[in-house]
Amino acid sequence: MARRKLIAGNWKMNGNLAALRELADIQAAAVAHPAVDVAICPPFTLIAPAVAAQPALAIGAQDCHEKVSGAHTGNVSAAMLKEAGAKLVIVGHSERRADQGESDALVQAKASAAVNAGLLAIVCVGETEAQRDAGQAIAIVTGQVRGSVPAGSTAAQLVVAYEPVWAIGTGRTPTVQDVADMHAAIRATLNDLLGAEGPGVRILYGGSVKPDNARELLAVADVDGALVGGASLTAAQFVPIIEGGAAVS
Ligand code: PEP
Repeated sequence: MARRKLIAGNWKMNGNLAALRELADIQAAAVAHPAVDVAICPPFTLIAPAVAAQPALAIGAQDCHEKVSGAHTGNVSAAMLKEAGAKLVIVGHSERRADQGESDALVQAKASAAVNAGLLAIVCVGETEAQRDAGQAIAIVTGQVRGSVPAGSTAAQLVVAYEPVWAIGTGRTPTVQDVADMHAAIRATLNDLLGAEGPGVRILYGGSVKPDNARELLAVADVDGALVGGASLTAAQFVPIIEGGAAVS
């Protein structure tokens, strides 16, 4: 099954209006490499200005609330993101699972809300270092997939991002073999959960993807793109990752 690679940037709580000037070169790279999908997920406050700055670039969010509206001070619904011009939203990032105590069930509800609002949901999963050391990585991650992916999701609505917690922001990455083994296990789980839609769901790798390792990671079987944190903040770092994706597409 042919799956287009997706290179998505997660700016986390970084960036300001001035940083949006990076988007021009990122969008130029997206145009230059039409076989690859490109997206940037800035903080909430920069979504509408980012869309205004680069209307053809897919802009996303880093979280959404599971409800459509209501008394949820400080939260933002998927419908609000859609109205602001977002095309996608990351849910279940390990920083939110750790800092906000988000459970698989909550992540699943957020992914459903995203899909119902017409957004592409990027559902993040990943093991801690202690879990990997204990030989539990595949069981933990496939369990997260089972608990976090909404039943009945289609390949057009859902992306899964495998992000080992210990690889995020550390400069460390799993071996290519470990990435291949995990992505194969996630693929089998998606096939089991989603039937005929499973083979079409893209599975991204995330965790210290940089210009110098992107091509090798993106060439691994069942690695359908990358979720990139630190290296997505500048076009100088992010564009070579897009180019790496194009080279192996
Ligand atoms: C992330 O937080 O999604 C991430 C992958 O970060 P980094 O690329 O900085 O490790």
